[in-house]
Amino acid sequence: MREYFINDLIEMKDHNVIITNSLTEKGIKNIYIEMNKRIHRCPRCGKDTSRVHDYRVRKIKHQYSLGNKIILHYKRRRYVCLGCHKRFPEENQFVEKYQKISNHTLKVILQEYPKKQSIKDLGERLNISYHTVMRYVNKHITPSRARLPEVLSIDEFKNLSKGDGKYAFLMVDPVNKKLIDVFPNRRKHNLEAYFMRIPLEERNKVKVVISDLWDPYRKLTHKVFPKAILIADRYHYIRQLYWGLQGVRKRIMSKHKKGTLEYYILKKYWKFILKYTHNLSLKHFKPRRLGYHITPREIVDMARNIDDELKLAIDLKDEFYELLHTASYEEAPKLIEEFIYKLKQSNIPEYKYVAKTYTNWGTEIANSFYQEIKEETGEVTDKNYTNGFIEGLNNKIKVIKRVSFGYRNFSHFRSRIFACTNSDLSISFTK
Ligand SMILES: [Zn+2]
Repeated sequence: MREYFINDLIEMKDHNVIITNSLTEKGIKNIYIEMNKRIHRCPRCGKDTSRVHDYRVRKIKHQYSLGNKIILHYKRRRYVCLGCHKRFPEENQFVEKYQKISNHTLKVILQEYPKKQSIKDLGERLNISYHTVMRYVNKHITPSRARLPEVLSIDEFKNLSKGDGKYAFLMVDPVNKKLIDVFPNRRKHNLEAYFMRIPLEERNKVKVVISDLWDPYRKLTHKVFPKAILIADRYHYIRQLYWGLQGVRKRIMSKHKKGTLEYYILKKYWKFILKYTHNLSLKHFKPRRLGYHITPREIVDMARNIDDELKLAIDLKDEFYELLHTASYEEAPKLIEEFIYKLKQSNIPEYKYVAKTYTNWGTEIANSFYQEIKEETGEVTDKNYTNGFIEGLNNKIKVIKRVSFGYRNFSHFRSRIFACTNSDLSISFTK
């Protein structure tokens, strides 16, 4: 009875296992096990035998849960075939040939690997070295590129592994929220070579590519996805106007002395100024400095009254938001062209710079108004193709980087990203 109890305790479900002794030393539990003697079939000639050839003790790390430290001293039996004299080890379910960790420990490694923790911590808690953990992970977890989707979102993130690029390249399917692949750098010729290895037939299935305003991505998209339209990510191009308006606000603010009401409004309420005025709250609140109740919209009106140039800058920002909310795909190119013209006419230096960028990316910005209407149902798919999902993924990657203190090796980094983001990652326990 006691044996079965211990078997359960160490998650050893094989009832042919016999525990002969156990002793704890320096916090490590040593458990001595062997198997029941049974008839085995000779792997060479198929004859049955129960003749024992010899025993050999193997030490196996057995961490069935985090924190425990158990070493199995497995007295492994070898049988000998009386027909052909073949010697062979007995069968067991808890450790594979040549392995120094139990199968259960391997399972724990593969289950824990995708979680938010560093490999070093995981290894320490399992009493296994970093390199051993990674060796098992690389053997049993195979991240591979997913099939290219119809809508593809591309982006980059700061790479931590040495010797690759400064930025790694990321591809996702934003519609099905799935990671497609991660590539160690975004250098043009490397990316091109990477995509060219994917058959044209598969690349032709990509209908929409979403990216930030980076010229090499535009060239790449046209070259490797001949059937796709390129969409500038809304977040990225709106940000340009944001930055412009921030510049104007700061410039006007610096014209006023610290401590003045003008300075206070422009300094403290920059978030209200950047927002689409139409969406600002109409709820009253009471800033201490003013001493009376006021709404965020009224605050922005105060900012408008401080300076004509700032007023124009705020109004143009609102006009752009209006355009984003209302324009159809057909109207978009013309409306954007008109808007760019107004930016130029405004004579606001910060906006002239924005106008330049928008002119350069006019087609792709207009493409972001693209909407797909399903012919059968007339249903309109999500109008705003954005990189929202990829931005979220980027945050996840930041967490991975933070908990892992950098990766010396990109393939480790890549496999971690796959493990942390894709639930359908292929993990094999039996390989
Ligand atoms: Zn035999």
